[in-house]
Amino acid sequence: MRIDAVTLFPDMFEVVRDAGVTGRAHAQGLWSLHTWNPRDYTHDVHRTVDDRPYGGGPGMVMMAEPLSQAVSAIRQHRQHAGAAPVPVVLLSPVGKPFDQAQASRLSSIGGAVFVCGRYEGIDQRFIDEHVDEQWSLGDFVLTGGEIPAIAMIDAAVRLLPGALNHGDSSLQDSFQDSLSGLLDSPHFTRPETLSGVTVPAVLLSGNHANIARWRREQSLQLTARNRPDLLTRARQQGHLTPADEKFLLTLSQA
Ligand code: SAM
Repeated sequence: MRIDAVTLFPDMFEVVRDAGVTGRAHAQGLWSLHTWNPRDYTHDVHRTVDDRPYGGGPGMVMMAEPLSQAVSAIRQHRQHAGAAPVPVVLLSPVGKPFDQAQASRLSSIGGAVFVCGRYEGIDQRFIDEHVDEQWSLGDFVLTGGEIPAIAMIDAAVRLLPGALNHGDSSLQDSFQDSLSGLLDSPHFTRPETLSGVTVPAVLLSGNHANIARWRREQSLQLTARNRPDLLTRARQQGHLTPADEKFLLTLSQA
């Protein structure tokens, strides 16, 4: 997977490139990162990348020209490197919400060109000409697109084959289809008893069928409480078994 990021703050990406699972995967060559600073595509002494908004109002707007030139340079570089064609993605609060399905898609299509906005946003003419998709990290406003891009890269890299020590562990994560898109169940590790609280007995029983059922019920309960929307979707998609429905009925009667 190859990620190109257009950013005024390339140093921020060191976190995902160097640390933890994503850092190890980068060192193993499972993915690569190229950062492109729009200031390198300016032609004035101040290396200006922003200007006041037409129509007035507070704040500054990122100019189209340096961004367009950065994206053209990326296209050329990718072409020379024989890299797969990938979408140009603008990180934006107005974009489609990023979710686990998008993370899977990002990990399987060979990457993306991320454009990280700053200030009040980006000149719309750049967006109309160069951007294929807009993705949002959630319903809140950050100061820039770097943190959303880093979060999305992290979510995609851990799904690359070989990135996690236990390849199967992502299958147990929240939102994964293998879990019917439900939330993950609680986890416990040593010691068996902590401050008088003992690990649920079923997890110590060695009975794998019972453990699987307990985990499933915990997932159902947590999802019903915290994310009823995900439960509705799982039901609509036919992911809930008769045993699941029976358990959910006991919850609503409790
Ligand atoms: N005026 C914009 C609005 O209200 O939609 C917000 C601009 S924000 C201060 C600056 C940049 O941060 C955006 O251009 C975008 O790249 C990034 N950003 C902020 N919040 C984001 C979010 N929730 N998801 C993705 N990117 C975000």
